[in-house]
Amino acid sequence: MKKFLLLIITLLFLNCSSESAIIGIQPYGKINQPVLDSITSILKRTYHTEIVVLNGKKLPEKAFVNIKSPRYRADSLLIELSKSRPDSIGFILGITSKDISTTKRGSDGNIKKPKSKYTDWGVFGLGYKPGTSCIISTFRLRNVKTDLFISRVQKISVHEIGHNLGLDHCETEKCVMQDAVETISTVDSEGFKLCEKCYRKI
Ligand SMILES: [Zn+2]
Ligand SMILES: [Zn+2]
Repeated sequence: MKKFLLLIITLLFLNCSSESAIIGIQPYGKINQPVLDSITSILKRTYHTEIVVLNGKKLPEKAFVNIKSPRYRADSLLIELSKSRPDSIGFILGITSKDISTTKRGSDGNIKKPKSKYTDWGVFGLGYKPGTSCIISTFRLRNVKTDLFISRVQKISVHEIGHNLGLDHCETEKCVMQDAVETISTVDSEGFKLCEKCYRKI
């Protein structure tokens, strides 16, 4: 009986520790230190876990496409990030200054129309839901004052890790899990935090 109880306690402990899995930040190429610091601080504040910045590496060539413009496929990067994730890290967030893209599909699974627009669709970020990897790009966030740029990077990082933790898009006003609906102005108008409803789910 004692052994059985001990096993239950151990399992409970393992379960708790996996909930606060370490988040790793994987820079692709050179990412400025203040940007990495700002992501570290917002993820720590939001998810109450340890954040580790991994050594920078090059974007994989096989993710590169030039369909409408030079971009890296976000879906390929998610696979690469998941595969390269060290065992000690629960979730991995990649960051690049290059443009990233995905194929945008409707609820029926078909490519959204017009196909020429959505087959290779540029995004701010992408993350598995649920899963262990996500990727953000600063490409579409730049050319604004530093404070606004940093706030965009922070919100998108919190949003994509939220997807990794299983969160869907949320309609609560100001919630960081709102769907950007194809415009950065949505990101700018939302807050930095998960709403109470989203927070309770993780
Ligand atoms: Zn999203
Ligand atoms: Zn929410």
